[in-house]
Amino acid sequence: MARTAEAVIIGAGIMGCSVAYYLAARGMTNVVVLERDAIARGATADAAGGIRLQFSTETNIRLSQVSLEVWEHFPELFGVDIGFRQQGYLFLLTTEDEVRTFRANAEVQRRHGVPVRWVDRDEIRELNPAVRVDDVLGGTFCPRDGWADTYAATAGLARAARGLGVEIREETPATGFVIDAGRMRGVRAGDELIETPLAVICAGPQTREVGQLAGVDLPVLPYRRMSFITEPFDAIPPTVPMTIEFHSGLYFHPESHGFLFGMANPDEPPGFNKTVDDEWMARTVEALCERAPAFEQARIMRGWAGFYEVTPDDNPLLGPIDGVEGLLVAAGFSGHGFMQGPAVGMCIAELITEGRATTVDISAFTPSRFRDGRLAQEHNVI
Ligand SMILES: Cc1cc2nc3c(=O)[nH]c(=O)nc-3n(C[C@H](O)[C@H](O)[C@H](O)COP(=O)(O)OP(=O)(O)OC[C@H]3O[C@@H](n4cnc5c(N)ncnc54)[C@H](O)[C@@H]3O)c2cc1C
Repeated sequence: MARTAEAVIIGAGIMGCSVAYYLAARGMTNVVVLERDAIARGATADAAGGIRLQFSTETNIRLSQVSLEVWEHFPELFGVDIGFRQQGYLFLLTTEDEVRTFRANAEVQRRHGVPVRWVDRDEIRELNPAVRVDDVLGGTFCPRDGWADTYAATAGLARAARGLGVEIREETPATGFVIDAGRMRGVRAGDELIETPLAVICAGPQTREVGQLAGVDLPVLPYRRMSFITEPFDAIPPTVPMTIEFHSGLYFHPESHGFLFGMANPDEPPGFNKTVDDEWMARTVEALCERAPAFEQARIMRGWAGFYEVTPDDNPLLGPIDGVEGLLVAAGFSGHGFMQGPAVGMCIAELITEGRATTVDISAFTPSRFRDGRLAQEHNVI
């Protein structure tokens, strides 16, 4: 006999686990999460764990604000320490264009109650004495921003979802959908069929491939991003904020007793290559030492590659997919999905159980916007 479920979620990264938890918290507990690998092993595992309120669009600011309330209270809510280090995000700006854009962004953020402030060179040096500021025109700093352990957070949500009755099956890929007269009827996992009227694709960088199983085209492309971590190193205080040289996308923040850092390669084509590119590592280290010369004394302990899940406007696809009733997506976060996990889970659960997301108006991120040419460009992407 086929298993039946009220909903099947594909993917157990931060999004799948959050959607599952918030659905169950709203009373929809007969939910199955299919994960081809293990909980939090996809993009979520490779993330820098950054959590910030500093975005350029209202929807992203709101998603981050709602999520931040959860991150700040995670231990009380879920009984798990996610190592949230609220040391702020410091953006360094080196061109007049960036200054204009960030001043405008800061206005929008402040209108929404984000405690972001403009910082000059002197304050930048106070916040992070390691950085070279001679070419810096200014920056922004928000003390409520920070970073956390992505695995602990996702595992915490998964455990809470299981506690409410959700079934999370690891090493179980979704292999197909049963769609009849434009309606979702079931999800296949190998030989097994799970009958369901609702499926939610939370497949991170693999979203396009999973969408193809349902005959829909979801514009999410995987882009390799490399991260590196230094050996324990105390030449820079462990209290400095997440520091980002916006022009190059170079970032670093304290991690364990060392530092985690990375930089986007603008020439990287999309693809699923997960090897570490030594040449790019060398360029990243060079840029890091130029910005913060104390890193010349640091040694790299390890490096890894993961995938940003990028859409044409750097914002996610959230909600029902046209053409298949009962098929939804929450994917394509373009490098800022971990931090928005809680709010997205709440919104998708509201959409499913109430017909409308009320916590945050996510209509700007409707998946059909690309077909209609209504892009919602996010400008503050790292
Ligand atoms: C280097 C790097 C740094 C980052 N830094 C940050 C940061 O500082 N802050 C931030 O907020 N975000 C950051 N991100 C982005 C963040 O990691 C993602 O936006 C977020 O983790 C996406 O979560 P997800 O659940 O959508 O995807 P994933 O975590 O990838 O989860 C999707 C899951 O779906 C599973 N899956 C795929 N196909 C199938 C199938 N057919 N059947 C079953 N399961 C399937 C996968 O195995 C995977 O576990 C970073 C990403 C990278 C790569």
